[in-house]
Amino acid sequence: MSAGGARAYKTRGIVLRGRNLGEADKIFTLFTDERGKIDAVAKGVRRAKSQLAGRLEFVTEATLTMHRGRSLDVITSAEIACAHWNAIVDPAAFATAHVIVELIDAFCETELAMPDIYALLRGALRALAASPDPASLVPRFELRLLGALGFAPESDGCVRCGASLGGVAAWADLEAGGLACERCRPYRADAFALAAADVDNFRGLAAVRDAAVAPAMRATAASARAVDAFVSWHLGKRPKSTTLLDDLAHA
Ligand SMILES: [Zn+2]
Repeated sequence: MSAGGARAYKTRGIVLRGRNLGEADKIFTLFTDERGKIDAVAKGVRRAKSQLAGRLEFVTEATLTMHRGRSLDVITSAEIACAHWNAIVDPAAFATAHVIVELIDAFCETELAMPDIYALLRGALRALAASPDPASLVPRFELRLLGALGFAPESDGCVRCGASLGGVAAWADLEAGGLACERCRPYRADAFALAAADVDNFRGLAAVRDAAVAPAMRATAASARAVDAFVSWHLGKRPKSTTLLDDLAHA
C-alpha cells in the first residue's frame, strides 16, 4: 500500500453547513460519528460534473471517503446514507432542521468525538422527516442535547433544596441549573414561574429518553420557553434560527 493509502479513511457524517472556497471548491462542516465536528474540503464540488455534487446537501447523512490533508481533510467520495430533501421542503421542518443543526454546531467543539450526539442528531433528523408537526420536536431535542452535554436541567426535585416538585408550581432557575421550588424562588430577572401543569410537562419531557417512545408528548408553551431559556443560558445567547420557528408559529 502506498503512503497515500494510509492517509485515506472512511467515516459517516452529516452535513451541517458549507461555504465556498475559490472557484469550484467548498468547505463543509460535518458532524461525524468517529471524530465529531470537522471541516473538510470537497474539491471541484461546484462543477456540474462533480461526482460529489448533490451528495453533500444540508443535513444529508453520507458515508464519506476522506483523505487526510495538511490542514483540512479532503472528501474524495460520498455515498448518501440518508437524504432529507423531501422532508425539509416543508417550512416548519426546514426551520426545525436549522435549529437542530445550529445547536449541535454551536455546542460541539471541533474534533471531539461525541457518538451520543451523533446518534441524537441522526435520530432527530429522522424523527423530523416523519413528524406531522416537526417544530414540536424541538424542546425534547434540546433537553436531550443538554443531557448529552452534561447540562440536563434538574427537575426530579428542587435544584436548590431537593423538595419534591410533584404537582406544584416552580421556577426556572437558570443560574442553579434546574427547577426551583416556591421557597427557593430565585429573585433574578431571568427566572420565571411555571404553573404546576407546566412543571409536570417539563419533567415528563426531560424523562423521555427516546423520541420514538412518546411521539404524542408535546411541550406546553411555558415549558418550551423554559427549555429554550436553559439552552440560551448555556449557549450564552439565543440561537439565531429559533426566530425562524417563532415567525412560523405566529404567522
Ligand atoms: Zn427548594
